[in-house]
Amino acid sequence: MDAKHSLGEPRVLISRSALLHNASVVRRTIDESVRVCAICKADAYGHGAEIVADTLCNFSSDGSLRPPVDALAVASMDEAAALPDVTLPVIVFRPLENVFIGRQRAKLEEAIRNGWTLTVCTPSAAEDLSRVAQSCAKRVGVQVMVDTGMTRAGVPIDRLSELLQKIASRSSLRLAGLCTHFANADLGPDPFTQEQLARFHAATDEVVERHVGRLPRHAANSAGLFFNPESHLDMVRPGLALYGIDPSSRPCLDRPLRPVLKWTAPLVAVRSVRKGTGVGYGQTWQAPRDTRIGLVPVGYADGYPRTFSNRASVLVNGKLAPVVGRVSMDLTTIDLGEVSGAQVGDEVTLLDDDPLSPVSVYKLAEWAETIPYEVFCRIGPRVQRVVVEPEDEVQSKNEHRGAEKPKSEFRIPETRIKSE
Ligand SMILES: *Cc1c(COP(=O)(O)O)cnc(C)c1O
Repeated sequence: MDAKHSLGEPRVLISRSALLHNASVVRRTIDESVRVCAICKADAYGHGAEIVADTLCNFSSDGSLRPPVDALAVASMDEAAALPDVTLPVIVFRPLENVFIGRQRAKLEEAIRNGWTLTVCTPSAAEDLSRVAQSCAKRVGVQVMVDTGMTRAGVPIDRLSELLQKIASRSSLRLAGLCTHFANADLGPDPFTQEQLARFHAATDEVVERHVGRLPRHAANSAGLFFNPESHLDMVRPGLALYGIDPSSRPCLDRPLRPVLKWTAPLVAVRSVRKGTGVGYGQTWQAPRDTRIGLVPVGYADGYPRTFSNRASVLVNGKLAPVVGRVSMDLTTIDLGEVSGAQVGDEVTLLDDDPLSPVSVYKLAEWAETIPYEVFCRIGPRVQRVVVEPEDEVQSKNEHRGAEKPKSEFRIPETRIKSE
């Protein structure tokens, strides 16, 4: 794609069809009876929760009326409130506590009215929540996160029955699920994952038997989903995989995931400089030869890390251009010495949607000494999120786009699923 956006803005381009494709890869990996809860926290891993939730609720990749996933999950009530009008159940994973402090109560009332499932890990949180629900004259669904070894959020196994008794004793609470989270699932078949799963079964088999068919259990994130089929239980909770990134943090050609996000920006200036010219704060780079310096209107305030200074590269007209000098808050400079003909308005790709691209998210994560999750989550709110494939009806009306998109090899949904 070489769309000129001479007056363009840095943009995150989101492919709906890639997202739907990944959802169907997830469906194909699990049994038909297993449900899929799409993790949309942190603005859908930086992809834009509004676009992602809308796609997963209202589009279908196979023309059927079954939505591509069965539920959406976020971390906080604020994130749930920021979702568009969604038709799927919403689960909030951050454990409730301090219900009567600050604005928590008002948020809870909203959560209860909207029917979101909330997470509780202590009897006191369950008690407080039951009182708020009672005052709203509404039952609220609660799920219990069990700590089976992660030692982070969750009720320790030896306190579980006390918590379940508390929940059962409050008619305004409805036990909606039991879950746990793995510490080592991304390591592939790991004995500690097996151990956590065994502990989860031991702690919950009996109560599940008492609630035949009514108490779903879930544990698997993307890594559990692919590496640990026994962990699928009643529902899986993929985040990263839906966004097309392999949970091994390396591209994996055995799993046909398609990255959903591409991050571009226009080249806003090109300047010829003489050999020896210093570039940027601290003059950390001097031109080793006469060359041309390109200016990209993206900086660390947008989530393009300062550690990329003199380390990362971008793509311009399909050629690699190294980041030279320091990445600053709003601007980044690149050496266009090897990119002939680059001019103002050309599209710069900061993060490519091809898993094997030299500027893939895997590569950026390596440069930033982190994992793809963090690269995505750091992309700031200043960068506009835009649907590119298939074009949104509203967008194509309001916005002229020059370049043809490459045809997807997968079926592109022609219509929104009719809601209501
Ligand atoms: C973030 C999160 C997930 C999703 O993890 P991925 O590795 O992105 O699939 C699943 N479950 C819980 C509880 C989470 O917090």
